[in-house]
Amino acid sequence: MTETQTRWDRSAEVDTQVEELLGRFSLEQKIDLVSGKVVLPTNPWGPQPPESPIPPFSLSDGGGGIRIPSQALGAPNTTALPAPIALAATWDEALARRYGDLLGVEARANGHNVVLGPAMDVTRALVAGRTFESYGEDPLLQARMAVGVVQGIQAHPVQACLKHYVANNQEYLRNTVDVRVDERALQEIYLPPFTAAVQEGGAASVMGAYNRINGTFACEHPHTLTEILRGQLGFRGYVMSDFMATQSTAESAQAGLDWELTMFGRWGNHLLQAVQDGRVPLATLDEMVRRILRPTIGLGLLDQPLQPVIAPLREHGMLAREIAEQAIVLLKNTGGLLPLSAEGLRRIAVIGPDADNISAAGGGSALVPPSNAVSVLAGLRARLGERVRVDYAAGVDPIGPGVLLPGLGAIPSDMLRPAGDTGEHGLRAEYWPNLSFDGAPVLVRHERQANLNRGFFDIEPALSAASPKLERLPADLPARLSVRWSGTLQAPATGEYLLSLTSLGSARLLLDGQPLITIVPTATVVDGAAPLGFGSPIGAAASAIQVLSTTVQLTAGHSYAVVIEYAANTPEQSFFKEAMLRFGWQPPAGVVSTQIAEAAELARQSDVAVVVVRTFESEAMDRPSLRLPGDQDSLIRAVAAANPRTVVVLMSGSAVETASWETGVPSVLAAWYGGQEQGSAIARLLFGDVSPTGKLPLTFPCADDQTALRSLEQYPGVDGVVHYTEGLFVGYRGYDQLGILPQYSFGHGLSYTTFGYSDLHVTPAVSDDTQPLEVAFSVENTGSRAGTEIAQVYLGLLADLNEPPRRLAGWVRVALEAGERASVRVLIDPRSSERPLGFWDTDAGAWAAVRGAVRVFVGASSGDLRLETVVTRT
Ligand code: BGC
Repeated sequence: MTETQTRWDRSAEVDTQVEELLGRFSLEQKIDLVSGKVVLPTNPWGPQPPESPIPPFSLSDGGGGIRIPSQALGAPNTTALPAPIALAATWDEALARRYGDLLGVEARANGHNVVLGPAMDVTRALVAGRTFESYGEDPLLQARMAVGVVQGIQAHPVQACLKHYVANNQEYLRNTVDVRVDERALQEIYLPPFTAAVQEGGAASVMGAYNRINGTFACEHPHTLTEILRGQLGFRGYVMSDFMATQSTAESAQAGLDWELTMFGRWGNHLLQAVQDGRVPLATLDEMVRRILRPTIGLGLLDQPLQPVIAPLREHGMLAREIAEQAIVLLKNTGGLLPLSAEGLRRIAVIGPDADNISAAGGGSALVPPSNAVSVLAGLRARLGERVRVDYAAGVDPIGPGVLLPGLGAIPSDMLRPAGDTGEHGLRAEYWPNLSFDGAPVLVRHERQANLNRGFFDIEPALSAASPKLERLPADLPARLSVRWSGTLQAPATGEYLLSLTSLGSARLLLDGQPLITIVPTATVVDGAAPLGFGSPIGAAASAIQVLSTTVQLTAGHSYAVVIEYAANTPEQSFFKEAMLRFGWQPPAGVVSTQIAEAAELARQSDVAVVVVRTFESEAMDRPSLRLPGDQDSLIRAVAAANPRTVVVLMSGSAVETASWETGVPSVLAAWYGGQEQGSAIARLLFGDVSPTGKLPLTFPCADDQTALRSLEQYPGVDGVVHYTEGLFVGYRGYDQLGILPQYSFGHGLSYTTFGYSDLHVTPAVSDDTQPLEVAFSVENTGSRAGTEIAQVYLGLLADLNEPPRRLAGWVRVALEAGERASVRVLIDPRSSERPLGFWDTDAGAWAAVRGAVRVFVGASSGDLRLETVVTRT
């Protein structure tokens, strides 16, 4: 990589070439370029590109790998990497750089030169659907990971696009939500990752988000797009809108947007008109073109024609495995159950709905087709060979988007029998392409549960991270449909049952022919009404879902006829086909499904049980709760009761509530969404081929109501407005401030060995605002195995600034043999882009230095601080 490529934004030579090239564009060609038309039709967002002085771009999302494989090669040519949140759990900037490098190589190999990523949205609400796509709740950790990834991507003739700028922290009403955030929180929490990725990473572009910020849409926000991004941060690349996020023509162009990403645009001819009638000066258009051309020339895109080639997939698979291994966080290991030893092991039970496949991944535009797939079941079988018997039981029904609906959990399939008994479990489902069950159904099939959630993640298979065991609905089934599920409910015990419906639309439940629950939406449409169009607000549907339940007395062994009728007839159904219906229950205490009982029995007969549980998380919808979906908590409790040697492996993109099931479970791992090699990584870690090193990039709270967000105004917002009144107290900063003890703290992660900390010295003891602080201390491996500790440094700014009690200021990875001790140091530079020793002075509109006493903490997590001292800043 040349100096010009690294510093394309400061190169006079690049600027000269930009001027020369700009002169070759006609007015119409400039309009085409900024309107996003100069892109290859391999991208879903472009028809055939028009004539242009530069060759067309080719774009692909690049969250956890390259989303759009080349069609030219006819073979899988992309590696599904562990999700970005998993990368963050490694706290390893060098690994982030290799992650980015792989993205750069595979982007080129698949014929792309723009990667839409990384996402660097600081985690605010743990249930937010896209938490897995970014690097967690701390701005510094976000920044360091993003810089590594961007530098890796741009080491190739490929542009990185930082997203989503800015304050894009939830999916609920994501295209319209108005984020009310004060300038200080914006500057200290949400902007630093962008600052670092622009100034250090040299990112080519930034993606404007869907949301509003203090009343103005992010893609037409002069303060964030121009004053901050260009003025304060010195960004010289371009801003692209999120897909269809442009809300206006002249306003957005004037505010600082340079590229409209869309299918049906607000720019194009409208912008041409605006330039011709002077609403957008030609000089502004020229500047927009310059911003696009600068990193295009500077990063060498014009010198390298797009030519798909087979990627080095084997090598990339190895890297995917290495990252997955480094990312696993050992949350708990009571009694040293882990690492397991294969010696003397005869039989091991692998339990969990998707432990036999790799579908536990984040859904939406960050989902990546794998070139290879190693499930936990396959990984353990490969690791253990013939000598150990590895059995599998699903334990619960497959996990899909239905679990995102609120309300009671879906009734397990083994309690249901379809009408016209086929010997299967579940219900008979009939679908009509109208709202009134009119005519013959166009689809009749067996479904395990009535748990339908058609949404964004369901418009094409490539966007859905649902279990492969769930059959998809045909794409041509319209949004406005009606469905009837019928069969019987077999009561497993005598007692009181709470039966419920969750519905977006009209629904009713008949039990033995009697209407039991009827849901009437507040607004309905009639047959023939079109769904909302493509640009409709994502997340709007969630706001109109209703849940109703009623108590009934049922008798053990008795079968009750069940009919559920549903019509997707609310105004909120959209192009994304948002039909939503769940038949749920809460049975009497002690009821366990047959599937769970079978899994527990398998565990009882085995030496060890590994329970692999997962969430379903996706772009477009937040989770209703941090609890494990789909009866998986009951599954864990039953398995752990049957076999005390139970290990739980969590596969998620964010925090999961563990308190309700982890008593009695000796070992718990957070393996995140581990990508295509997840199974080998987990097998190697369980058997001690690698020692766990990962640390949590976000807090695991004790319960949904035990987080730093305390009100509906804060999340999910009221009347479409979300108030960031917690200000700087995001993530662990908030727990510390409010005195909430989490289940597992930010930064937590155990090893198979133990570490001691000593000898803290911070120099200089008294310093001014220009001098870095050197934090020196010793770490000792006090256990009997080799291991790597990620030792963390936090600062407490004592001055009366209303700053959080602690903020992460740096860390160091220390690899130590058993008994070894090392002196390490962490340098904290007040001038670095994350401003570890600064605060945003809102009155001055600038960063200011902290003066007075500063507490320095060193420890194994934000909740496990071992050393402390105080220094003074003058
Ligand atoms: C997402 C972006 C993505 C874009 C293009 C949008 O729905 O918010 O992150 O880059 O689609 O796929």
